[in-house]
Amino acid sequence: MARLDILTANDRPGEYPQSYYAATAEALAPFPKAEGEISCDVAVIGGGYTGLSAALHLAEAGLDVVVLEAHRVGFGASGRNGGQVHPGQRVDQDGLERMVGREMARGLWDLAVESVDLAVDLAGKHAPGAGFVPGLIHADHKARFVRHSHDYAEKLARDYGYDRIRPLGQAEIREKVGSDAYFGGVIDMGGGHLHPLNYALGLARAARDAGARIFENSRVDWVAETDPVRLGANGAKITARHLLWAANGYLGHMDRRIAAKVMPINNFILATEPLDDAMVQSLIPGNEAVSDSKFVINYFRLSQDRRMLFGGGESYGYRFPADIAAKARKPMLEIFPQLAAARIDHAWGGTLGITVNRMPHFERIAGNILTAGGYSGHGVAMATLGGKIAAEAIKGQAGRFDLMARVPTHKFPGGVALRTPLLVLAMVWFSLRDRL
Ligand SMILES: Cc1cc2nc3c(=O)[nH]c(=O)nc-3n(C[C@H](O)[C@H](O)[C@H](O)COP(=O)(O)OP(=O)(O)OC[C@H]3O[C@@H](n4cnc5c(N)ncnc54)[C@H](O)[C@@H]3O)c2cc1C
Repeated sequence: MARLDILTANDRPGEYPQSYYAATAEALAPFPKAEGEISCDVAVIGGGYTGLSAALHLAEAGLDVVVLEAHRVGFGASGRNGGQVHPGQRVDQDGLERMVGREMARGLWDLAVESVDLAVDLAGKHAPGAGFVPGLIHADHKARFVRHSHDYAEKLARDYGYDRIRPLGQAEIREKVGSDAYFGGVIDMGGGHLHPLNYALGLARAARDAGARIFENSRVDWVAETDPVRLGANGAKITARHLLWAANGYLGHMDRRIAAKVMPINNFILATEPLDDAMVQSLIPGNEAVSDSKFVINYFRLSQDRRMLFGGGESYGYRFPADIAAKARKPMLEIFPQLAAARIDHAWGGTLGITVNRMPHFERIAGNILTAGGYSGHGVAMATLGGKIAAEAIKGQAGRFDLMARVPTHKFPGGVALRTPLLVLAMVWFSLRDRL
């Protein structure tokens, strides 16, 4: 059976998807295609937040860096996501303390806090159109979850000195989120939301201005793990002292060691038509981003031009469904029935990388080859920091990269061939559980 090519299965080569973000992006002229023989200090495969942030930080440190992007910068998850900037790691501190012990959990928390500061700072400096808005609500869809959310906010204040999060009771969450689906939750003013593609384009512009050479429509099709590393992209030959794999969910079968631990999964978002004042007031009057406690998470927020951007909907295969709008509209109407008559202007899908324990996968896969990815739906901030600390490791300060790399990572059961049917089973089970 022919293998599905994730880089082309759901999209047209060299084109952004038909997303609200692409329709409203601050245009950036295309970068050239890689050609001929190129040599550099560092080659980066993938022009998302990981690759672009690495390129920016490496170029600022004076290294000669080349980014090879198969399509356009921000083509992948970085230009399509929910735009929610999450404080903390994807796994909460209770889970991390159990996983790696208190001391290391503290180090991971500090990195996560720094990741948000870094993303907000870079967006402010380089991506005016990203328009970061503070405020992120976690909404509990079961009354029995609320106690835990409130205890967790208290724990962050007590054990981690984090004072930007506070509990929301049922009355308050219903004022903030105009839905009777939620029983309480927390609001974190350290998090927020932004226009993800404008943010990616801003990083690309900044990396270019700092001296990075970015090539688009330049799909890497072979890598020789020599020293220096050699790689090829559409006939161009690149020689680099170091290589960073930053292909995340779009890696495909290029590297089996990474593919064994980072698995692609699809998720879907829609954008309604711009909404009038009364409707906005009935949805999220404070303009926060919201994500909920379901296993198949619903995440939503208003756009800069006051559309509802609603993400959710399960996917049990690598091909996007024919009717993406219907897929995301169903959970949206479960949360906000008042949007039944709203026109859907855009609907799109994207592929993210997840790991078994939902912590990112950082690894030195050979002496001069690193990878960072698998942010498991929590990458706007962490991928930005991932690129920065990969750049540090390449410059010889590997401490923070090694801390991330010490978090245990596991191979997906079933290997690359069987993990999809196993995931389908797991997703069906968990989405059933959401409804109980
Ligand atoms: C629908 C969706 C919603 C999400 N919502 C959120 C959210 O609200 N908040 C949050 O924090 N995170 C969210 N995420 C996750 C977040 O978008 C990612 O974690 C983050 O963008 C990862 O960045 P990256 O640079 O590692 O990967 P990507 O942005 O996916 O970049 C990888 C790039 O590598 C390129 N590539 C792959 N193979 C090759 C090759 N052989 N040669 C050259 N180039 C190659 C691809 O074209 C792609 O551009 C979401 C993801 C999706 C898909």
